[in-house]
Amino acid sequence: MTDRRTQLAENLAQVEERIASACASAGREREDVTLIVVTKTYPASDVRILYELGVRQVAENRDQDAAPKAAACADLSLTWHFVGQLQTNKVRSVAGYAGVVQSVDRVKLVTALSAAAVRGGRELGCLIQVALDAESGERGDRGGVAPDAIEELAASVEEAEGLRLDGLMTVAPLAGPYAGRQRAAFDRLVEFSSRLRGNHPAANMVSAGMSADLEDAIAAGATHVRVGTAVLGVRPRLG
Ligand SMILES: *Cc1c(COP(=O)(O)O)cnc(C)c1O
Repeated sequence: MTDRRTQLAENLAQVEERIASACASAGREREDVTLIVVTKTYPASDVRILYELGVRQVAENRDQDAAPKAAACADLSLTWHFVGQLQTNKVRSVAGYAGVVQSVDRVKLVTALSAAAVRGGRELGCLIQVALDAESGERGDRGGVAPDAIEELAASVEEAEGLRLDGLMTVAPLAGPYAGRQRAAFDRLVEFSSRLRGNHPAANMVSAGMSADLEDAIAAGATHVRVGTAVLGVRPRLG
């Protein structure tokens, strides 16, 4: 009796328990942390089951896969988060279904997102992706800006028509001083978030933590965790 629905329901319950217990350990309210399920490489039928199980926030990292999936699920009231490195030639498509773009990491992308949002008559939430291991003036291997560029980028989002500055996102670095130190990495992101909120009080989202390290992210103060594998299973290929 392990059909897909049963399997997803069990996985979701386990992840929910992990989040609840991490919140309890950190002295935080459960409702202060939002689960975003990363559905990349999995079919629209899984998204539909997740919706039936109560999931309302989903994330994808490749427009080629996400666009048809979002179209197939257009009847569901889901918020789609885009979490992958984003080329400007994909921006128009992404702006058609995404509610939040979590991987904003350069001014050129801000300009393109703003134009697409205005053209589509939509407001797009934006998170600045921070590469904790990037040096000043550089971007990370997995996207993201160096920490000293956060404010400039935040200001450009704030000024851009059609965009809303929601906060910060990071992926725990695989290299550099934070490699293998997820808790320290997420603590650092939360420091940058406090600083950002000094100038932009509404930009209070902190998106950090995945299947392997969501407890560290919640302990550090993340408001959103992005969980794929622990809900959907190990992906057939890297995605
Ligand atoms: C794939 C992905 C996740 C989810 O990772 P899991 O380890 O499967 O939970 C989270 N964030 C980003 C940016 C991703 O690309």
